[in-house]
Amino acid sequence: MTPTPDPAIAAALTRHGLDPDSPRGRDKATPTRCPHCRHQVLVGLDSDTAGLTATVDPGPITASDEATALLTGRRTYRLLAYGRRLVIRDRSHWQITAQPPSTHHIVAEHRCRQQLAPPPTPARQEDDSDRPPY
Ligand SMILES: [Zn+2]
Repeated sequence: MTPTPDPAIAAALTRHGLDPDSPRGRDKATPTRCPHCRHQVLVGLDSDTAGLTATVDPGPITASDEATALLTGRRTYRLLAYGRRLVIRDRSHWQITAQPPSTHHIVAEHRCRQQLAPPPTPARQEDDSDRPPY
């Protein structure tokens, strides 16, 4: 099943200079919503060769969150931008040790109603008109 892009996530990614609709690469992460809990998620292959489908919460996690995720059996991934293409990459135990979440955008495998970090929020549009709202 092809995931349906979520406009709020796509807008947040675009704000950060990423193109969620880029046609390049079969392994690009696609912003969508979980079909079970409707939470914002990213879905993509976790490797460019023989990748497995990964569904992750897009919000970056801390080192403490990563420890919690690993201790509860959840995988963690690194979110990378290749140009304007966003990809999900599996983390080995060496990478977990050498590349802490404070230096990279690390995300956790999605589990319904168990988010470790808040999802990205779309930019607020300031109303600079002098007219009252009535
Ligand atoms: Zn879910």
